[in-house]
Amino acid sequence: MPRGPSTRTVHAGLPPAVQGEPFLPGPVLASAYHLSGDDVHTVPGYLREGNPTWSAYERALGELEGGEVVLFSSGMAAATAVLLSAEPGDVVVVPVDGYFGVRQLAEGHLAGRGVDVRLVRNEQSAVLAAAPGATMIVVESPSNPGLELIDIDAVRAAAPGATLVADNTLATPLGLRPLDHGATMTMASATKALSGHSDLLLGYVATNDRMWLDRLRGWRALTGAIAGPIETWLAHRSLATLGVRYERQQTNAAAVAELLRSREEVSDVRWPGVGAVVCFTLADAAATARFFAAGELIAEATSFGGVHTSGERRARWGTDDIAEGFIRLSVGIEDTGDLLTAVAVALDAAVR
Ligand code: PLP
Repeated sequence: MPRGPSTRTVHAGLPPAVQGEPFLPGPVLASAYHLSGDDVHTVPGYLREGNPTWSAYERALGELEGGEVVLFSSGMAAATAVLLSAEPGDVVVVPVDGYFGVRQLAEGHLAGRGVDVRLVRNEQSAVLAAAPGATMIVVESPSNPGLELIDIDAVRAAAPGATLVADNTLATPLGLRPLDHGATMTMASATKALSGHSDLLLGYVATNDRMWLDRLRGWRALTGAIAGPIETWLAHRSLATLGVRYERQQTNAAAVAELLRSREEVSDVRWPGVGAVVCFTLADAAATARFFAAGELIAEATSFGGVHTSGERRARWGTDDIAEGFIRLSVGIEDTGDLLTAVAVALDAAVR
């Protein structure tokens, strides 16, 4: 019988039991390793090429995603490694309403180099319409901040030869395993729910394609977009609780979405049934300011997926085409009743 999510996250990437050794070995802090003789390509000799703490975390993420993993210093470092592989003449489809950093990377650094960048809504019909002829297709499921889901199998069927890249930051591998649905690569920020404590930045790519693994590892070693061993170790330690965090966040998100749907002053409530993010719209920017001022337990902050409930008026960045009163709320792992009370009080204040 397949093991449950918590069993998998608690044990992910741990070495076999050895008498007197810890469950999870500590971070290996070294910029250089012993490397004698001329055979310098079989083991890493330098931190940019490899690190045992990375390898353990990569193994853990690989077990969860169903592929091999290349770890990067942030989600954007992972996205850069994938997108900047595009060459003149390539056709790259990128969500116009997904994470703005990936869109800006494509617009700012691919479009001017002869790559045909097609910005497309992260909606099933729009992605399918853009798929034929694309060299690379990037999708988010769910997307940030619109929370649209994409049927990755259908996109694969529409573009059998394309490099299909799925950003799995919101769902985490407990919510979705894009490689099982035909994605060439999963690309994600491990900064969010995966590590879950808002204390580090990391990113990764998972794939079963040997050409991509070699290319991404080469890119990482050359550009130096490497993870620090301490952050990596912290993220691996935090992974053990992903199962229980994810379960509580799903419960809290469902309850908060239900509360929001019951309130007249709230419109456009979105929660796709996966992930910790719930989006909704209040009348205007002033109403959102009252919401956050009164919202005990609701930190006003960007980012999402952490154990603390947080949120923000997304339009304050000016990067997304959304309503002025659109709030991206990330539910934490607080007790459900306490969180519902906090949200209800904040909503009462918002309509005043
Ligand atoms: N992908 C998505 C969907 C994101 O939301 C983010 C960050 O918010 C990133 C990628 C980039 O990740 P990082 O901040 O770790 O560089």
